[in-house]
Amino acid sequence: MNAEAHQKVNAGHLKRDAYLYVRQSTLRQVLENTESTKRQYALQQRAIALGWPAERIVIIDSDLGQSGASAADREGFQRLVADVGLGKAGIVLGLEVSRLTRNSTDWHRLLEICALTDTLLLDEEGVYDPAHFNDRLLLGLKGTMSEAELHFIKARLLGGILNKAKRGELEVPLPVGFIYNPLKHPEMDPDSQVRESIQHLFDTFQRTGSACATVKAFHKEGCLFPRRLKKGPHKGELLWVELMHSRTLQVLHNPRYAGAFVYGRTRSRKQPDGRETYSKRPEEQWILIPGMHAGYITWEQYQQNQRQLLQNANTFGHDRRNSPPREGPALLQGLVLCGICGSRMSVQYHSNEGESRVPQYICQRAGIERGEPICQSVRGNAIDRFIGELLIEAITPMALDVTLSVQREVQSRLDEIDRLRHKQVERARYDVDIAQRRYMQVDPANRLVASVLEAEWNSKLRVLTDTQEEYERLRQADHIAVNDDAKSRITALAADFPKLWHDPNTPDRERKRMIRLLIEDVTLIKKEDITVNVRFKGGAVTTKILPRPLPCTETRKTDTAVIQEIDRLLNCHTDGEIATILNEHGMLSSEGKAFNRGMITQLRCAYKLTDRYTRLREDGLLTMQEMTKRLGVCADTVKVWRRRGLLRARPYDEKGYLFEIPDYEIPRKGAHKKTHQQSSHDSQS
Ligand SMILES: [Zn+2]
Repeated sequence: MNAEAHQKVNAGHLKRDAYLYVRQSTLRQVLENTESTKRQYALQQRAIALGWPAERIVIIDSDLGQSGASAADREGFQRLVADVGLGKAGIVLGLEVSRLTRNSTDWHRLLEICALTDTLLLDEEGVYDPAHFNDRLLLGLKGTMSEAELHFIKARLLGGILNKAKRGELEVPLPVGFIYNPLKHPEMDPDSQVRESIQHLFDTFQRTGSACATVKAFHKEGCLFPRRLKKGPHKGELLWVELMHSRTLQVLHNPRYAGAFVYGRTRSRKQPDGRETYSKRPEEQWILIPGMHAGYITWEQYQQNQRQLLQNANTFGHDRRNSPPREGPALLQGLVLCGICGSRMSVQYHSNEGESRVPQYICQRAGIERGEPICQSVRGNAIDRFIGELLIEAITPMALDVTLSVQREVQSRLDEIDRLRHKQVERARYDVDIAQRRYMQVDPANRLVASVLEAEWNSKLRVLTDTQEEYERLRQADHIAVNDDAKSRITALAADFPKLWHDPNTPDRERKRMIRLLIEDVTLIKKEDITVNVRFKGGAVTTKILPRPLPCTETRKTDTAVIQEIDRLLNCHTDGEIATILNEHGMLSSEGKAFNRGMITQLRCAYKLTDRYTRLREDGLLTMQEMTKRLGVCADTVKVWRRRGLLRARPYDEKGYLFEIPDYEIPRKGAHKKTHQQSSHDSQS
């Protein structure tokens, strides 16, 4: 430690803490390069030699295993910068201080803050005071060199990688179904279950022609799909998981399954907050070498699959985002959000006989992904009707009257602003005049001065033109404001709005445009009834609860007498029995058909009739569980007792029944023994 170093340290520094920053960029370095870590900790001794007591040395080592390439995600470094900024640090210690960060921006920011708060820096070579020009120059150079070093290492690595990739020899992670053999050549996975699953995926796609159908088929067959863990402590292990839609697409789009080498399908880019984003590259930019190894499908098959997938995408479309209005009659197409999971809902149409196309809003994104039932699906016509009414209600002559008077108020204020703006134009014109005069006055022989003044004059002229144009533009914009003639026309339009809305000649697309002008989005939640949340442009929110529409088959009203009859029969009969009874009495459904059990169930739900189970429970009947508890015997015994008529039960549907509470004593002992014999006898036979 030289004397000069000691001179830089003064009492002010010693009063504050010393900060030791320890970092190793990768976990491997943390494990293997312990020497460097030891050296970093040994710097403590240097600080003690300079006069800091050991207990005043703060060690920041939370960034072990973090790269120095950026400050993002390096909690320790950020804490260091914060503490230095707050003036808590007298000195910052690091093995090579320039390696505190490998990013020039972060480094210079740290130097700046150190200089401002009079904080020293120390590395193995000496003590630096960033407030001194020479030290700062040296530190700046060190930082730049350190960043450059990183850049060259990267460039060299990347060049090597690209060369290898172009020869198809680069060892890149393989998709599941392939492994590297000891010669580092890709081979099909020796696990036959893995191979067969992948083959099965391609075969199913071949058969069904769609990724969605492939997922569904896998789910139906109960087949799982292999996945190899790419990181973590179980890296390389095989998992069997449900096949997802996105996974299927990944497999189908991956040329490696056709035996091709591929590199550079995506590119990553750092975002300001340090996260990386990945984007797809166009196929022309990939390094793609077909026929490099064995594959599950041929190259022609791969290309055929790509064409098929593209065609599917065009036909069915992706989950439609906030999309431009199209021709279909669903008014809220592209505006509906699912209130259950938050996804955007898409539209499907189905047509009932005689009716025009009925829109259906469906939340199916997650359903497609897993080949599962969809999240929710809401019939659109009632909702569309409600939205229409809402708009007609909102656009009344009176509402517009208020709007227009507000508009007039705004207009008078606009005139004031217009005067101010005009002053700016005058000001610019005045500047031009001055510049012109100065140019005129100068001696033409003095060419240098003349040309400078001419340039100034020109620039002032440009400013004037810009200002004038801006002024005109703003004035035009303000002048959409309304005169009396326009006002009466607008009011008339509002009166006409309901007519226009209901006019069958108005195309659906125009109605949708009108909605888009007024409504931001609509959220639907279907439970016992349908909650509709309408968010208008500008933030106002309206909530309305609509009843659930009757099921499709019963939209044409069923006779009230039939419903009443069903309600009455429910007291003593199950849905199936009711269907039989109604048919015996010659009653017919609204469509003139005979009843069956399913229809009765639907009607019962649609008209909210209390179901048989609830009715029986209200009468005090017990479930099997309650009965076993009450009698203190096992379920089998209860069943046997019921079969032998000791207990009475009444059915509530085809299979289930509830027990009446017996009002007599059941002869316990004998029955108990006997049933045991009988049940064992039963199970033997
Ligand atoms: Zn949903």
